[in-house]
Amino acid sequence: MVPGTRIPNKSKTPQTCDALVVGGGPAGLAAGIALRQRGLDVFVADALIPPIDKSCGEGLTPDALRDLLRLGVPLSGGHRFTGIHFANRKPGREDLATAQFSAGEGLGVRRVELHRQLTEHAASIGVRLKWGCRVDLGDERTIGGRVFVGGEALSYGYLVGADGEGSRVRRWAGLERASLRSQRLGFRRHYRVAPWSEEVEVHWGDLGEAYVTPVAEDEVCVAVITGRSGLHFDAILGGLPYLRGKLGGRAIVGRDRGAVTSTRKLHRVTSGNVALVGDASGSADAITGTGLASAFREALLLADSLSRDAIADYERGHSAILRLPQTMASIMVSMDRRPWWRDRVLRMLSGSPDLFARFLAVHLGGESLPHFAATRGLQLGFRLLLPGVGCLACWRSSPVDDYQRTT
Ligand SMILES: Cc1cc2nc3c(=O)[nH]c(=O)nc-3n(C[C@H](O)[C@H](O)[C@H](O)COP(=O)(O)OP(=O)(O)OC[C@H]3O[C@@H](n4cnc5c(N)ncnc54)[C@H](O)[C@@H]3O)c2cc1C
Repeated sequence: MVPGTRIPNKSKTPQTCDALVVGGGPAGLAAGIALRQRGLDVFVADALIPPIDKSCGEGLTPDALRDLLRLGVPLSGGHRFTGIHFANRKPGREDLATAQFSAGEGLGVRRVELHRQLTEHAASIGVRLKWGCRVDLGDERTIGGRVFVGGEALSYGYLVGADGEGSRVRRWAGLERASLRSQRLGFRRHYRVAPWSEEVEVHWGDLGEAYVTPVAEDEVCVAVITGRSGLHFDAILGGLPYLRGKLGGRAIVGRDRGAVTSTRKLHRVTSGNVALVGDASGSADAITGTGLASAFREALLLADSLSRDAIADYERGHSAILRLPQTMASIMVSMDRRPWWRDRVLRMLSGSPDLFARFLAVHLGGESLPHFAATRGLQLGFRLLLPGVGCLACWRSSPVDDYQRTT
């Protein structure tokens, strides 16, 4: 479909629709757009008024941008980035690792700007949008599919829960059964400063991680994530002196935001004519930077499935979307919890740039995890478990390795 083309809504009255999407965040809007592209009459309702802001690192990976194009949303503005940089600085030692994306670039874009462009596109193709309206699901699911949107009854064919991390639709539809693998807090702040790096920088510290995403020529977004209770933005930044030095004295733009970030794997994401999408449908810790990419993939899969009246296909395909991000989340959250493990992994990555590049390719789905494990597993195991004898595993020695072995 040509982006911007308005698809006529047929035969539906203001009180009925093919699909009602509860929540108009990135996942809900993407789902609305994808369903509309497939010709469904869609209604998206959100309790808030746009543009809706939220705590987010504001980095879109190359695969997220590709899926946005499929949704007909070629994002404009923001600031490109070319890869990921990890930094682990300790007194007397620093381990730095950089990897470029193997295909495409990422884009840092302010959350409100992403929301504005998604909203405009949704409206332009005929998604019915209702803002400032809480969807009241009632205590129990009614036969025939009817809920109240801003006090008015609305009948639907499908109900899509895109209502975020603490989803009420999930509870209401009996889809709460899940394994909660991690739960941490994330805060976001914007600084008026020209980006100093072409990559998203992830700074690892004992109190948590901070990552820096360029979002404009003169602005960066800093997200900090911690598993320790009672800590806020400045406390975590205080544990990262290098980054604090970069940001010291720079103007803070707008207001800080905080949110819970979790790694949650749901047992099921559909029940009858109800489906979950985005954070409501499960998530991977924010340190993976994949929440938006997963939401867009889920939206496309959902639309493909519902347009064929095959909701079971969505159920089957959904777990594959979150599998890799959740595996990566487990590894990265374990690095946050165990300093010795973090030091060992980051030392290994800093000495092996090619390994970090392939690790990033796996992270973004460019290389399969089984293939990576089959070709690099032995080397990786040696390097992590026996760092002193890692070279025995046919490892190509680098100047950094040599330096580290002699110091
Ligand atoms: C600190 C932090 C950093 C992150 N960094 C990144 C990153 O760099 N890259 C990335 O890809 N992802 C990142 N993420 C993850 C990403 O932000 C989420 O995956 C994404 O916001 C999920 O979008 P969503 O639409 O599912 O949920 P949300 O954005 O939470 O939207 C849910 C919407 O539902 C509405 N709603 C809820 N209940 C109702 C109701 N009853 N009626 C009507 N409306 C309702 C809410 O008002 C809200 O607008 C980060 C997350 C955190 C916390």
